[in-house]
Amino acid sequence: MDEKGGNVKEMLKVVDFHLHPLPRIVSIEMILKEIKKANVVLAVLLGLDVDPKNILKRKIKKLIIKQTQEVFVWNYEEIYSQMKEILTLGKTSNEYVAEIVSSYPRRFVGIGSIDINKGGRYIKNKLQEIVKLDLKGVKILPTLQFFNPEGNRNLKKLFNLLNKESLILMIHCGCDPGPWEMEEFCRVGNPKLFEPFIKKSHNPVVLAHSGSYSAHEPKIYLKEALEIAEQYENVWLDLSAVTYLVEEEEVVEEFRNRNLMDRLLFGSDYPVFKLGIKETVEIIERSPVLSQSEKRDVLFENAKKLLEKI
Ligand SMILES: [Zn+2]
Repeated sequence: MDEKGGNVKEMLKVVDFHLHPLPRIVSIEMILKEIKKANVVLAVLLGLDVDPKNILKRKIKKLIIKQTQEVFVWNYEEIYSQMKEILTLGKTSNEYVAEIVSSYPRRFVGIGSIDINKGGRYIKNKLQEIVKLDLKGVKILPTLQFFNPEGNRNLKKLFNLLNKESLILMIHCGCDPGPWEMEEFCRVGNPKLFEPFIKKSHNPVVLAHSGSYSAHEPKIYLKEALEIAEQYENVWLDLSAVTYLVEEEEVVEEFRNRNLMDRLLFGSDYPVFKLGIKETVEIIERSPVLSQSEKRDVLFENAKKLLEKI
């Protein structure tokens, strides 16, 4: 039984570690309303340095065509236009994130983003920008940013530079909507591919979606995410878009056995995820598997502890 009688009606304080202030989709007012409804006392807003123009680059275009053929989808134009739309809607600049944070400094912290494909000088400049804007970390996405972590020199450069900064690195892991639901397009989201870099990292690293997001193959890289988090103490897991994980006894047992219960972070993935923030929080609150103190850790304490490190 839960301690203190397990009062299920107790509304828990929440830190939302994964929220997208997509400028073309949600207003700041809508976000404020959503977080208030869900008792979110602090939300981590994520930048997305994605660029629809990247798909015009020869190397990336060639890669998309190759992957398209691998899945026997020949309608390259269709995939191309879906990607273009998602990247256009997703684009969220670091300045925009910082602007919201500075308007509501008690409500939000920000994590910027760097398109590492744009090369060493760009990475350095963007990192300086992120520090200057007082953002607390960097988000990268192998899917939407079209990079393969394996032997990636730009990624190595980013990890090296990050080691000199007190910043969080958030890595999108697993699949992504649209064409990135296809395994051929999302295998770059396997957290194992980041291990050679994580091994040498001193920064807190958050593996977003616990490596698990996939519409066709739920928990696609959960095993890999669990293994890495167990092995490296600076690795954290967020539950965004995969909150169902804490409803499953076997998965929660894995978290417990690997001592990961205090490195699990609640994230809503609002407004990308199908549920609102409050409904997503309720999945945790109602979980038949988590104890009341585990719920408090996942919804609040763990994130607080992580942010205090920065
Ligand atoms: Zn997300």
